Amino acid sequence: MCGIVGYIGKREAHSILINGLKRLEYRGYDSAGIVTIDTPSNSFTAFKKKGKVADLEKAISGKSSKGKIGIGHTRWATHGEPNDVNAHPHFSPSKKLAMIHNGIIENYSSIKKELISKGHKFDSETDTEVFIHFIEHIQQNNGCTLEEAVRLALTKVVGAYAIVILSKDQPDQLIAARKGSPLVIGIGKNKEEFFIASDATPIIEYTREVVYLNDEEIAVLRGNDIQIKSIKDIELTPYIQSLDIELEAIEKGGYDHYMLKEIFEQPRSIKDCMRGRVRLKEKKIVLGGIQKNIDNLINAKRIILIACGTSWHSGLVAEYIFEEFARIPVEVEYASEFRYRNPIINKGDIVIAISQSGETADTLAAMELAKRKGAINLGICNVVGSSIARLSDEGVYTHAGPEIGVASTKAFTAQLIVLTMMALKVARYKKTITEGHFEELLKELTLIPEKVRKVLELSTAIQKIAEIYKDATNFLYLGRGYNFPVALEGALKLKEISYIHAEGYPAAEMKHGPIALIDEEMPVVFIATRDSSYDKIVSNIQEVKARKGKVIAIVTEGDALLPKMVDYVIEVPNTSDALMPMVSVIPLQLLSYHIALMRGCNVDQPRNLAKSVTVE
Ligand code: GLU
Repeated sequence: MCGIVGYIGKREAHSILINGLKRLEYRGYDSAGIVTIDTPSNSFTAFKKKGKVADLEKAISGKSSKGKIGIGHTRWATHGEPNDVNAHPHFSPSKKLAMIHNGIIENYSSIKKELISKGHKFDSETDTEVFIHFIEHIQQNNGCTLEEAVRLALTKVVGAYAIVILSKDQPDQLIAARKGSPLVIGIGKNKEEFFIASDATPIIEYTREVVYLNDEEIAVLRGNDIQIKSIKDIELTPYIQSLDIELEAIEKGGYDHYMLKEIFEQPRSIKDCMRGRVRLKEKKIVLGGIQKNIDNLINAKRIILIACGTSWHSGLVAEYIFEEFARIPVEVEYASEFRYRNPIINKGDIVIAISQSGETADTLAAMELAKRKGAINLGICNVVGSSIARLSDEGVYTHAGPEIGVASTKAFTAQLIVLTMMALKVARYKKTITEGHFEELLKELTLIPEKVRKVLELSTAIQKIAEIYKDATNFLYLGRGYNFPVALEGALKLKEISYIHAEGYPAAEMKHGPIALIDEEMPVVFIATRDSSYDKIVSNIQEVKARKGKVIAIVTEGDALLPKMVDYVIEVPNTSDALMPMVSVIPLQLLSYHIALMRGCNVDQPRNLAKSVTVE
């Protein structure tokens, strides 16, 4: 993970780097650092600090540098604990080179051993420091340029990296390279300045013109020149794209936290996701990438959905939808498991990878494996131009807008919309759904944003329930059918941001184990909307009540039975069973938000987590 940022141009680099790190902090926040080359002395000024970017700023206060070139890093530690020394940037033995790195160098320990035998001494425990020592070692041994030494080093390291290197001897040059970890280059007016970052958010306030670096490419930024080469030393033409993200989309807009803003944005993000795609009047769903693959989808013997975390939960909902409507067998796989076993993929199988960031390392690797085995790869992601988007044969963007809060909310509901649109489109072509049912679901889809808006009005009522249970040490979340993955997602949200242990379970499975946990201390959240398994879940609720468990139930508006049976109810508007997860998940997002806040947790940047999981 980690966020990296770089600048070269005519402005003071210091504040560009610090502001950029703040925008990237969601990617990792256990330590941060910057280095600039100061003019006229051509010396490095570096600051590194354990903690958040704000701690770094405090440490720097009054001592800021004067350079027009520099790099910065906000870290999510993989090698070596988060402390000042392990914070990036790292330096070469001569202290002439500085480097920031996002990723993992898997063969760092053998390189380190070799370098130690040649007399190298290391300050930190990181793989990154080994990497920059290695580059300088190659440069000195081969007597070559820095650019060439970087290229040669990249042919020897195994793993993932996005790196930016600064050299004291060449104070007018930045070298960047990537493999597996994202990197975007922003091109300033007349190419008089360049920005580098892990994603476009630190760049868009300065320029909309960007180049996404591809795997195994090296960029050299100098004066008003950008040069890109492959690690095989082939000169490439930079492909410049224009971005259309607005600055306010990545700011808090009056909300206390990004997570709250993103929860409340859902009526709009869901609408944006359907815009131009769900066409009620024409009674059709328009999805270009899916249309191109419609024959493959109709004839598919199997669909494999690959994802991690919250995206995996949206995959579970999609399994039910595809099987119910399109009658295609679906398997939902954790990307990290899929990639390391020997999965059977037959020709014509469709693999759909789901990832908010489009950079999830395990999902990317699983897709590559599926591709090698002959599957057709479709991608669903939120970040335009991301690695998964580029690796997919075709795909669908969720168009939810930037999601900055580490706990995913609006990306989840947008993924559900995309997967539902896909399944219904295929079902209609396959004629496994009647025209009448298709139209009914289409209409119902267009009503979801308003229903979500109505649930958001319950925020204060949910806050009161949060107040009652904020000190609980365990929670159970139970649901059946389409609401089972919602139970998993509700439990995950609570764990992630409030650090309360929570488990999601299929309600009927409770009696095979978790029922042993139930006593008067145990809050149990039932997602018990009026769907085809309603009567069954009512019995499960009775089983919990019989053991004195405390029940909070998400019910359908107008339910006359459950309010009498449970401790607290949260009423949500009715919709089709298959679409209910988009509505029933909203109170669970709000419940975890309010509980986390009351427990004094950092909702946007929960401990140990990071937004874009670019390490495996
Ligand atoms: N491996 C590097 C470190 O531990 C970078 C970590 C990352 O990108 O997450 O510092």
